[in-house]
Amino acid sequence: MSVSSLNQGVQGKSPSAMGLHANPSANFAEKVTETLALLNQAVVQFSPVTQASSLGAEDVVITHLINQNALNIPVFVLETGALHRETLALLERTQAHSVAPVKVYRPSSAKVISFVKTHGQNAMYESLELRKACCQVRKLEPLAEALQGQRAWITGLRREQSTNRADVPQIDRTDEATKGQIKLNPLANWTWGDVWHYIAIHKVDYNPLHDQFFPSIGCAPCTRAISLGEEFRAGRWWWEDEAAKECGLHAKK
Ligand code: SF4
Repeated sequence: MSVSSLNQGVQGKSPSAMGLHANPSANFAEKVTETLALLNQAVVQFSPVTQASSLGAEDVVITHLINQNALNIPVFVLETGALHRETLALLERTQAHSVAPVKVYRPSSAKVISFVKTHGQNAMYESLELRKACCQVRKLEPLAEALQGQRAWITGLRREQSTNRADVPQIDRTDEATKGQIKLNPLANWTWGDVWHYIAIHKVDYNPLHDQFFPSIGCAPCTRAISLGEEFRAGRWWWEDEAAKECGLHAKK
């Protein structure tokens, strides 16, 4: 199937995210080779290593590369209890089809219930402190559990995603001393066009929310669609300042 016919979108709607964004860099093939080399290096040099997947476009590309090349890299997903139904459906499909094991980490239900009882269902909109407290319970604590015993973890961070991420290295050792893990960002130099070109040519399953102008997808209460001309991560915690827009998974001091 040609890329142009795929551009109509797997859901049969038009325009799809693929149709809008698939546009490879001139050196796309080199980037794929380099990415694969880094993933292989991860297995040889940094095992045990795991992929953190939010099931966003970048992460489905990485999981596809892991599966296509039979790399010994298990995948994990943080199921916060507040994800969109589209994301949960993709999680189910990924678990059913991925060769690499896909493990799901959930927050402590006692802590979530206590947080909601004390601060309310919409606490995240009330203050930055409460939003971060919610991320702490629903994301950071499950992340710490997922990373226990791991030497390195793989993320889908790209430099193009935001000014906060403009300097993301492919191998990030800055948290090694404190949190204990090396962070690998194999798509650091990929463009959004590269990501969608990869998805198109390999027919990778993806979150249909991307076709509804959600470029970056997190929890449902904290993610909205973006409008033409808005920044890539404008739909995440849109009521906050740009500088605050990390959930703590990738925050830097
Ligand atoms: S992104 Fe929103 S709902 Fe999800 S953990 Fe953070 S504050 Fe809570």
